[in-house]
This record gives sequence, C-alpha cells and structure tokens, in this order.
Amino acid sequence: MRIVDLSRELYHRTPSYPGQPPIIHGVWKTHEEARAENKGVHGNSVMFFSMPDHGGTHIDAPRHFGERGTPIDQYPLENCIVPGICLDLRHIAPKAEITPADLEEAVKKCGSPVPKKGTVLLCTGHHERTFPRKEYATDNSGVNVAATEWLARQGVVHFGIDSMRPGPEGMVNVLVHKACLELDITHIESLCNLETLIGQGPFEFIGLPMKWKGGTGSPIRAVAVFR
Ligand SMILES: [Zn+2]
Repeated sequence: MRIVDLSRELYHRTPSYPGQPPIIHGVWKTHEEARAENKGVHGNSVMFFSMPDHGGTHIDAPRHFGERGTPIDQYPLENCIVPGICLDLRHIAPKAEITPADLEEAVKKCGSPVPKKGTVLLCTGHHERTFPRKEYATDNSGVNVAATEWLARQGVVHFGIDSMRPGPEGMVNVLVHKACLELDITHIESLCNLETLIGQGPFEFIGLPMKWKGGTGSPIRAVAVFR
C-alpha cells in the first residue's frame, strides 16, 4: 500500500481565505512548565489552535452553501472514503475557467473513467506555482458552472482542487458554490501534491472531517491510497 499525502501543512498564520479568521497555533504549556508542576519528574506539553472551519485543506459541508444544506457532523462518511482519479489541468491559465470540454479532454488523457460515487481531483498546478505567496489567494483557475454540472452528471459525490476556491475568484466561484448546493455535490479545497497523482491511475481517496456540530466545513487529512 502506498499513501500520498494531499494535505497542506498547518502552522501558525498559514495562509487563510481572505476575510476569514487567521489560523493560530501556539504553545499552551511547555514541557518545562509541566515538569515544574510535577515536582520535576515528568511534564507533558500541550499546544492549542484556533481556525475557521475552512482553514487549510478542507471539505465544504453543504451547510456552507445554504441553510438547508447538510452540516459537517451529518455529512455521510461514505462520501469521505471513495474511488478517485486526478486530472492534469496545468495547461489552463491562472484565473481562467475550466470548461466541460477541458474536463472531457483531461479524462481521456488520464485513461480512467470518472468513478461513480467517487471524486475527481483537479490538478491545476496552482499550489505548486504560488504557495505561500499572496497570489495563492487570488490567481487560481477553476471550474465554471457548466463544468460543475458536468462533474455532477458523471455521478461524483465531490471534486477537489489545489487552490482555495473551486472557481476563479469572483462571481464564477460564487455561482459554482450555488450550483454545488443545487446539484447535491460538494468540493474539497486547498489540496496539494496533486502532481504526484498524474499518470498513476485510479486510487482510493480518504478525507475524513472533524465532527463540528452544525459546522459549515472541516479541515481534513486528505490522502490518496494505492493498493
Ligand atoms: Zn468552497
């Protein structure tokens, strides 16, 4: 079994989505402090974090898209361990729209069909090109509404992308989120390392969210498993 880690590293003040709270990670108690409490015998260190439920590599819960959407604690775990393929879309220009024709062509090149009740990971090269510079938050390519509808028609439960949003910044991205609610699919954002999957064939995708009650999303540890 080979596991490819598709998750961004989390650290203090790692880039977070414009307008959302920062990611904070700090030391709550040092080993030294804890040892002092325990008469110098032994001490356990503890850290703490604070972050938006859309921080780092994460899945959007349908609740993110609308009041009637499923919150993350009720999102089916069956959708979190699914067959996947990865499409090479690195030729699409920054900020450009990925169309249904782009997806069809990329699936042909990939050589594996879109798995039913699975996921399609879109390797745009955006993370590798821009992270952690400020362009990471703005210059991504992404699917348009027609491409989102195309993905839903293939029977996927979600799709993933190596940038902070599934569509290019602005109204297209807003409409892609609206479309996800209407089409009953969702998406995974801020993946990385997708280049590793190109030409490797189908895999099992695993990305389990935390059980935030009523949450609009959750960080996940996203991996591709080759057995
Ligand atoms: Zn989103």
